[in-house]
Order: sequence, then structure tokens, then C-alpha cells
Amino acid sequence: MKYAPVQNYINGQFVNASTDQTLPVISPLDGTVLSAVPLSAPKDLDAAVRAAKIAFHGWSHTPIKERVQVLFRYRHLLEKHLQELAALVSEENGKTIGEAVAEIEKCIELTEFATSLPQLVTGEILEVSKGVECRTEHAPLGVVASIVPFNFPSMVPNWTIPNAIALGNCMIIKPSEKVPLNVGRLAQLLKEAGLPDGVFNVVNGDSSIVNAICDHPGIAAVSFVGSTKVAKIVYQRATHHYKRCLALGGAKNHLLVLPDAKADMTAQNVAASMSGCAGQRCMAASAMVAVGNVDHIIQKICEEAKKIVPGENLGAVINKESKDRIEHYISEAEAQGAKILLDGRHTTVPGKEQGTYVGPTVIDYVKPDMAVAKEEIFGPVISIMRTDTVDEALAIENANPYGNAASVFTQNGGMARYVIDRASAGMIGVNVGVPVPREPFSFGGWNESKFGVGDITGKSSIEFWTKLKKSTVKWNPEAGVNWMS
Ligand code: NAD
Repeated sequence: MKYAPVQNYINGQFVNASTDQTLPVISPLDGTVLSAVPLSAPKDLDAAVRAAKIAFHGWSHTPIKERVQVLFRYRHLLEKHLQELAALVSEENGKTIGEAVAEIEKCIELTEFATSLPQLVTGEILEVSKGVECRTEHAPLGVVASIVPFNFPSMVPNWTIPNAIALGNCMIIKPSEKVPLNVGRLAQLLKEAGLPDGVFNVVNGDSSIVNAICDHPGIAAVSFVGSTKVAKIVYQRATHHYKRCLALGGAKNHLLVLPDAKADMTAQNVAASMSGCAGQRCMAASAMVAVGNVDHIIQKICEEAKKIVPGENLGAVINKESKDRIEHYISEAEAQGAKILLDGRHTTVPGKEQGTYVGPTVIDYVKPDMAVAKEEIFGPVISIMRTDTVDEALAIENANPYGNAASVFTQNGGMARYVIDRASAGMIGVNVGVPVPREPFSFGGWNESKFGVGDITGKSSIEFWTKLKKSTVKWNPEAGVNWMS
């Protein structure tokens, strides 16, 4: 094992889980065994909740301007350790170093947003009757939980950590058991930044600890990011226990390409969107709808995709199971009559034979009822369907149950607006392949890509991580006794 076994982080200390059950942590880049992650038991979660509950008293009563001083220092530490954190992300997740650096840069941006929260959470005050005023303030929820997926070992945790703790909550995070190393490092940096013990805790494990989080009476809110299948389970289970829950699920993002689109720009964006992070992004282009004759653009997409080389500017997919699943999708589409323009199956990288690589894959003449057209593949694969009109293309986009992102490539502003108005997705791109809204705009999809109200980042996160306290105050003895006076 390259690194020491992963430990939980409770009350400012790294501690062993109470069980000796573990799973190996394997680098998708070359199969190196990096570490072992414990499968914690409910009593480990209990210890974390206890510590967080005790810390909550002091932390929630610390003025927000003081709380964010910790995050200013944390932001500085993320920057100072950027290369080291990126190397760890790349190693445990399989993405390229360049992608991992971009991920840590995004963590810095997310933290910068959290440091601006004092400017955004001011309450309201109004004299509602003579001598009587009403005021509102945002109060923290208490102990909250964040359950995260494997594809962004640092960014998705940082969607929730800075905002939740800036707003006065104490957090328990459950990292993906596939990529638990980065979150442990974040815990160290938060401590170095001066975060009081117990405000941030890490409990490792698999689905059983997720279930324990949903059931735990001491946890007020659960945020989840992962597949739709599990988002539904978590949303149902957490809300069954009357917890506030926001559960982000999977995606099948459609790009509509119109004949007037700028060919080079479109091809570069499509190729980058389908293959970035080896296609393992919930914002990845997965389905393209070619409207009319865009053969010249499809040809350029293939030329661009050929420049994406596994092991060089294309990382590995998370594990062998994932590689097999992706390759099965491609083979099934081929057997059903789709045309493979570029084939990424059976890819190996010399010297990294145990790595799990899939090359960029372009599939043309896909029919809307094929699995590659409908399901999340989560690999560097684009499925191209062909239609005659934008309305047919929109009908395909609208029919898919997800709703994270959709993009249109065109030079016609009126047509772009037409698509923005009709696409059934929470995040829309115009000539943009990965339409992630940057801070302070919030991130969140629609339909089966998100369960719960509001978004997870940006200003919207204030509503999720706080509850509104309303006070009615009367100091003037002359004011009437009736509340309406
Ligand atoms: P996943 O759903 O398998 O796992 C996510 C988390 O849930 C992990 O911490 C895991 O331990 C836990 N988990 C797994 N199975 C469980 C079960 N049966 N019961 C309870 N908990 C369980 O997701 P993943 O494979 O780690 O991540 C990839 C998925 O995440 C993709 O579908 C991707 O689209 C999605 N994702 C969505 C967004 C978004 O913003 N909508 C962002 C990132 C990733």
C-alpha cells in the first residue's frame, strides 16, 4: 500500500473505525493499491454526531465574519497545496493532472464564494406597526451531512463544506469509498486553517453508513451527490425521517448541433465535453442531436477526438467494472446497427496495463430507443442521433428523464433562445459544451437529476443550509397590544 490506511476524522483527530472491514483503494491510472478504506459502523457515526453536536454550540454562536476567517485561511492553504492535492486527486480518481489542477482551482473559487457569505446573509428588518418591528435572520440547521461521489474527490466535497460551515453548521462528510484520500487531506487543511475540532468530521464507509446517516436522529439535513438510483434512495430515506434533503443524481446531457454552428468551435467543445475527466462528469456531453446536415461538423468532432490520447490527455475510468460497462454499451449499439466512427474499446496504455482506460468513442446513427441514447454511460462516449428539425431534437431531449444540462450550437440568437425556452434541463449552454454556472450562480439540474428544492451551490445554498428565524420586537410601551396595532 502506497499510503497508510484511511482513518475517520472525528473531533479534530484521525481515529480508526470500530470495524476491521476495509475495501482497497486502487488507482485507476495503473492499478496501484493506494490504501484501504474502512467500512465504518453506526457507532462511528454516533461518535461523529456527538462531537459535531458539542462543537455546534460554540460554532453557531461565532459571528459569521469570524467563521469565514477560517475559510480565508483554508482558501490560502488550498492554493499553497494545489499541486499536491491535484496529484492525489489524479492518483485516486484517474483523471489527468491538468484536470485535477482545474478541480482544485474550482475548490478555491467555491471557498471564495463562501467567504462572501457575510455580504449575502443579511436579514431584513421593517417597522410593521407603530413601534413594532419584524426582523429575519438565517439560523444554522445544526449537524448536517454530505454524501459525495467518486468523480470529483475534492470539488464536490467543496460544494458543501465551505458554505455549510460558513453558515454555522457542523458537518459530517461521507466520502466515496473509491476516492477517500482527498477528503482526509481537506480535514487536515481545515484544522490548520483554525477550524475548531468537531465542526468538520469524516466517516468513511459504503451504503450502510449512508443509510445510518439518513436514519440518524441527530442529523438535521443531508446533501447527496451521486447516481439517480441512489439519490432516490437517499432522498426517500432522509425525508422519511423528516430531514431536509437535496439529492443530486445522474445525467444524460444533450447537445443540439445546428447546420449554422461554427464548425471548429463546435467540434472542439463537443470533443472536450464528451472526453473531459474521461466522460465521468455529470455535465459531460453524452448525446448529440445533429439537426439537418452537419456531416462536416461530425467529421471535425472525430478529428478532434483523435487528438485525445489515453494516458496523455485522457485519464482512466474509475475501475474495471466501469470500463466493462462502457465497452458493453458501445458493443450493444454496434450490434443494433449504430456506426462506430471512433472506437475506444480495448484500450491499454503501455507501461500501465493495469490502468482502466477507454479511448474516445464517437457513435453515429444512434436511434433514440437504444441504451446509448437513453442511459448515462459515464465514459468518453458520444452518441449521435440525427433529426430534420429542432423540434424533433427537442422532443428527444425532453423525453429523457434526466435534466442536468443541455446545449445548443448555433449562430442564430433567436434559435438559441428557442432552445433555452424549451430544453428540459436546469443548466443550458449556448455554444458551450460544459455549461457549469460559475460562482455566484448556483449549480443544479432538473427532473431526475435532482430531488429537493433549490440548488447546492451559490446563493441558493443559503436556503438549504439555514432556516429563517422571524422575530417581532416591541420596545415602545405606547405601541398597542394587538399584533396589528
Ligand atoms: P453512487 O450513487 O454510486 O455513489 C454516491 C455515494 O453514495 C457514495 O458515497 C456511495 O458510497 C453511496 N452509495 C452507493 N450505493 C449506495 C446505496 N445503494 N445506498 C446508499 N448509498 C450508496 O455514485 P458514483 O458512482 O460515486 O458517482 C457517479 C454518479 O454521480 C453519476 O451518476 C454522476 O452523474 C453523478 N454525479 C452527479 C452530479 C450532479 O451534480 N448531479 C455531480 C457529480 C456526480
